[in-house]
Amino acid sequence: MKAIALLSGGLDSTLAVRVILDQGIEVEALNFFSPFCLCNRKKSGCGYESKKVADRFGVKLKIFNIFEEYIEIVKKPKFGYGKNINPCIDCRILMHKKAREYMRQAGAAFIITGEVLGQRPMSQHKAALKIIERESGLEGLVLRPLSAKLLPLTVPEKKGWVNRERLLEISGRSRKPQMARAKEYKIEDYPCPAGGCLLTDSVFARKMRDLMKHSELSLEEIQLLKVGRHFRLSEQTKVVVGRNEEENEKLLQLTKKGDVCFQPHRIPGPVGIARGNLDQTLTRLVAQIVARYSDSLQAENVEIAVKDSTQNKIDCIKVDCITENQLEKLRI
Ligand code: SF4
Repeated sequence: MKAIALLSGGLDSTLAVRVILDQGIEVEALNFFSPFCLCNRKKSGCGYESKKVADRFGVKLKIFNIFEEYIEIVKKPKFGYGKNINPCIDCRILMHKKAREYMRQAGAAFIITGEVLGQRPMSQHKAALKIIERESGLEGLVLRPLSAKLLPLTVPEKKGWVNRERLLEISGRSRKPQMARAKEYKIEDYPCPAGGCLLTDSVFARKMRDLMKHSELSLEEIQLLKVGRHFRLSEQTKVVVGRNEEENEKLLQLTKKGDVCFQPHRIPGPVGIARGNLDQTLTRLVAQIVARYSDSLQAENVEIAVKDSTQNKIDCIKVDCITENQLEKLRI
């Protein structure tokens, strides 16, 4: 008997796998990553936590990139958004659909997840769990080992593939029961609960809404949202200003053809990348924003270098720093 686990690598999905392995069931794990993952790519890379857990338990892991399909549900989720721009129910349905396909290919009989009843407001209440199962064509085939005793009987329990008595009855937002279990199983190095993805973050959600209103949702545009301070200058134009050295470098890497790069001349300060249509007035406006964040000791006559990637030339202009009032009106 084989089950397919949705494995994020967090504590809940780790425990779910362990509980099922303990019943002598073979498990294969799936991990999904999107541009909105909160995993620390720099230190460890996407999928790192799930790989660590899969290695620990000796289970096979398959990692899916779901960017294309994910973008479609972010634009128009059938079941709406959560508190910010997080389409949690549609997102879970997508992952479950992928898991169903994989389950068939792998000759597995059911799916397991680390979902905990009542832990997340949008997608982990009974009605939402039912919708996710129904919409993904998995009715009765999704076993949530951590909350199973609080949920209706599933096919694997009815058929006796899994012993319901050895499943758990955890619910709610407290993580103490899971932590106690982890201690029992000697699982110590699990990541802190990440609390969703970038789409649940109110600042990121603002930037996403702005992007959706003004531009296509491409991977490169989404990567840019993760860096710097963002300002909307016109319907077609925005500027992103680095907050530190690391972000300045990242911005330079993310620059694409047509972008214009601004940097203080002869004084330290941030990189500003302007994207969209840039006339003379907007060019001065971007320079004023970059001047505001530079290390210039005076607010007037700050010299800013303007590098136009299409014309391959650098101009220097002198501007006064933008006022805080003006700046706040432009902030996304
Ligand atoms: S928090 Fe993000 S990744 Fe998690 S279910 Fe919601 S939309 Fe999907």
